[in-house]
Amino acid sequence: MNSIQKNLKAIQASIPKDVTLVAVSKTKPISDILQAYETGQRIFGENKIQEMTQKWEEMPKDILWHMIGHVQTNKVKYMAPYVDTIHAVDSLKLLKEINKQAQKHNRVINCLLQVKIAEEESKFGLSKEDVLSLLTAEETKNLDHIKIQGLMGMATFTDDQKQIKNEFMKISTFFDELKITYPELKTLSIGMSGDYKTAITCKSTMVRIGSSIFGARDYSNA
Ligand SMILES: *Cc1c(COP(=O)(O)O)cnc(C)c1O
Repeated sequence: MNSIQKNLKAIQASIPKDVTLVAVSKTKPISDILQAYETGQRIFGENKIQEMTQKWEEMPKDILWHMIGHVQTNKVKYMAPYVDTIHAVDSLKLLKEINKQAQKHNRVINCLLQVKIAEEESKFGLSKEDVLSLLTAEETKNLDHIKIQGLMGMATFTDDQKQIKNEFMKISTFFDELKITYPELKTLSIGMSGDYKTAITCKSTMVRIGSSIFGARDYSNA
């Protein structure tokens, strides 16, 4: 086993069976992704549509590709033929475009609504009120080619695990409240390399882990 495979096995062993692992392979080459694939990993996350599409073309077709980055409406069409789940949906306009493009391919694309939980200003996402109005909108109910599976959140980039825990608890509590009215929601996508253990204590059902599997990312050629 090489280091990617060792890292992956260790992480798989450290998360509960009902927590889904998205292996975040952004910036990493096909050869690295294949190492993870050979260990049995089938869900990979990318944050750039063009990069993800190139990898989709070259990689085995039983991989489920998750778009975890911010999505521009005009680029949805490039991933609509194959993308499994889009994590960072933050508007009705985007939902409608995903639905329209999925329909062209006779597919249903899973969507997660990104909730803003970090105190940092820079993070994207919806407020609780925005989420509720999106879920209750008549227009949303008529979108047959998307499936809203749950919520996604990103904590503040900090070493302060207490602050991270507070932020994760906010979204987790909100998710539990929503499930009373919307029992079909099943995914709470919170937790990355530095905070996934905290996220799991806050009832994460999906963790997105990159550098702890593939090593630090190198952006120097970007
Ligand atoms: C890059 C990224 C991750 C993974 O980050 P690591 O710290 O490398 O695990 C998770 N979620 C999102 C949205 C990302 O952009």
